[in-house]
Amino acid sequence: MHDDAIEPFFATLAAANPSPQTELEFTSVFELLCAVLLSAQATDVGVNKATKRLFALAPTPQRMLALGLDQVTELIRTIGLFRTKAKNLTQTCRILVEQHGGEVPRSREALEALPGVGRKTANVVLNVAFGEATMAVDTHIFRVANRTGLAPGRTPLAVELKLLERVPPKYAVDAHHWLILHGRYVCQARRPQCERCVVRRWCDTAASTMPAEG
Ligand code: SF4
Repeated sequence: MHDDAIEPFFATLAAANPSPQTELEFTSVFELLCAVLLSAQATDVGVNKATKRLFALAPTPQRMLALGLDQVTELIRTIGLFRTKAKNLTQTCRILVEQHGGEVPRSREALEALPGVGRKTANVVLNVAFGEATMAVDTHIFRVANRTGLAPGRTPLAVELKLLERVPPKYAVDAHHWLILHGRYVCQARRPQCERCVVRRWCDTAASTMPAEG
């Protein structure tokens, strides 16, 4: 994607969805952290179903610890990798209580030190909860960034760094939401819907698969 295309590319995505939101449901930074931690290899819809029950019983790290590993495991058993996630979640809650006064820390280093929290999860929390211009590269963003030519890269980290370099500051906070939603609903893995894609005129892949626009 040419440098000049980046501004209209994001302006178009922004016009279609001025305040994009994550599709995970949460009512606090703690619940957001839990939901993101549980969302690896699971759909947001599936995570929301499980967290509805979980958060009703355990809306704080203290209450989650009081619930105990067995109950947490039982409550999230509909989600992929639930045993590992339940362990990570309860260990994370213990660290939040013992080292952070029961609060979710705002630094990348402290977030990534929590069990089950990697770079991507830390990026989501820093962005959604604290408004920082981080790029959490998931499978959708990875695909869209490469197909469009916006931020080509062989690894999620390479794509993340390229996005940080190329996304204009005014779009940086919301960029990852637009790219995820675009990948989830339009630029889908098996069959990208180029014919109804609002950003096709700036996309490298569309240029090779669609007839030129008149
Ligand atoms: S034109 Fe096609 S490949 Fe390019 S972003 Fe849109 S849906 Fe994806």
